[in-house]
Amino acid sequence: MKKINIAVVGSGIGGSLISALNSNESLKLFERDMNLGGCASTFKRYGAFFNAGATTFVGYEDNHPIKRIFDDIGFNPDLLKSNIAIRTIQNKKVLDRIQDFDVFLEELNKVYPNKNNEKFWRTLKDIDEKFWNLKKLYFAKYSMKSYFRTASFIYELLKVFKFDLFKSATGFIEDILGDISEEYQSFIDAQLFITVQTTSKDIPLLSMALGLSYPFHDVFYVYGGMGSLFDGILEDVDVHKKEEVLKIKKQDDYYHIQTSKDEYLAKNVILNSTVFDSSKFFEDKKIQDYYNSFSFNDQSAFVVYLKLDIEPELLHHYQVILNEKIPNCISNSFFVSLSDKNDYKLSKKGLSITISTHAKANSWKQYSKDEYEKEKEKTMNFIIEEFLNNFDKISKDNIKYSFCATSTTFNNYINRFNCGGNSITIKNAINLPSCNTPFEGLYNVGDTVFAGQGWPGIALGVEVLNKELNGKL
Ligand SMILES: Cc1cc2nc3c(=O)[nH]c(=O)nc-3n(C[C@H](O)[C@H](O)[C@H](O)COP(=O)(O)OP(=O)(O)OC[C@H]3O[C@@H](n4cnc5c(N)ncnc54)[C@H](O)[C@@H]3O)c2cc1C
Repeated sequence: MKKINIAVVGSGIGGSLISALNSNESLKLFERDMNLGGCASTFKRYGAFFNAGATTFVGYEDNHPIKRIFDDIGFNPDLLKSNIAIRTIQNKKVLDRIQDFDVFLEELNKVYPNKNNEKFWRTLKDIDEKFWNLKKLYFAKYSMKSYFRTASFIYELLKVFKFDLFKSATGFIEDILGDISEEYQSFIDAQLFITVQTTSKDIPLLSMALGLSYPFHDVFYVYGGMGSLFDGILEDVDVHKKEEVLKIKKQDDYYHIQTSKDEYLAKNVILNSTVFDSSKFFEDKKIQDYYNSFSFNDQSAFVVYLKLDIEPELLHHYQVILNEKIPNCISNSFFVSLSDKNDYKLSKKGLSITISTHAKANSWKQYSKDEYEKEKEKTMNFIIEEFLNNFDKISKDNIKYSFCATSTTFNNYINRFNCGGNSITIKNAINLPSCNTPFEGLYNVGDTVFAGQGWPGIALGVEVLNKELNGKL
């Protein structure tokens, strides 16, 4: 049986970044799907390419983990900066989320006037800047060294943010903006849904600041689809595509790994499966109990994919905010990402569009097969109709192909019903899973462990994991 040092299970953002940082002939990365990247992959259907989920690339800037990791592995991605990060449209009112604070503020005051807008948004931006300048960002458990580093991080947080750390998002909105209109509240919550997967009522001020500030950073479009990043990241990694890990069993100093194609003995295992889906690999009751202790976080996505036969001049990203909830979803807004006109791969013979919104996995599980298909169609048609209402340059006849994905679809391809990871809410801040586990040689990576979802959050978690691995491999 092949003996290896590290087995990485899954090629999502987390699995791929940690593999690239530790690549050598004794590391193998297993991916069950034919595409790399999980929620951030790009796939082919009807001869056209589509981004499966993630479309915005944020955090590729100095002092940020993604840049440090890419520089470390010598990867230079093919990116285009989106000068307008997102255009939001609510009842035909348009607001551009742009990096320049003063221009953004001027526009904001026209659409959502409030005498304290400047104080509110500047405070959020300041908090965000301070966060990314923290020197001791760390969260891990189960050893003296890990607890010590985590405690140093908490001490730094307290020193830098003081009482702001204990403020809730809603309390801060009330204190600074006062009683705001339903439209303004809906705009704030819709923006938060994109980044922290929940609304202001559940989160601390710090999460709101990070969530609302991301358009103040460089936001990039990835040429060739988000999935193309993984070809670059994994260039030097031994990747086993379409090889699913089925069972993992601790055997003396090794983990015995049974895949759909072979067997391996690995000293260390890094799971990029979600913490909610990892207990099934193990027979060991203690490991099962550990993974079962994380209660399922029912945050998921509904995604519509469109291929057009035209290439109109449009921005990369829009958010449409409606006055009613989308059927079978938990949000009244959807996020529209369009391929760049000059993208050689995604825009071949017409734009490729990914439209996503938020839904609960359990609401799809309750349907019979017939109901499921009917409800899926209903939700997709609703979103397409609202999309067309807000995009004059596109008509129904321009849509060559349309299809959609529920949480069940995501589970079929990438083994996860929860899509969107863990947001740091007031309730779960303490119980957030860490990258290390109580079991020697067993680690977690990805958006269900610290520091949460998306490129910036996962990359931060990868840096912590890399420090935990240091000296143990
Ligand atoms: C609709 C949507 C839109 C989003 N938009 C953005 C965005 O614009 N920008 C952004 O930064 N983030 C965005 N996100 C969030 C981001 O995509 C995710 O947080 C991130 O991609 C998750 O990465 P991960 O490391 O947790 O791995 P995952 O994406 O969960 O990938 C895990 C991988 O492991 C594989 N795997 C699982 N089990 C096994 C097994 N047993 N054997 C082998 N392989 C296995 C899966 O097939 C998968 O490829 C979006 C998410 C969604 C769902």
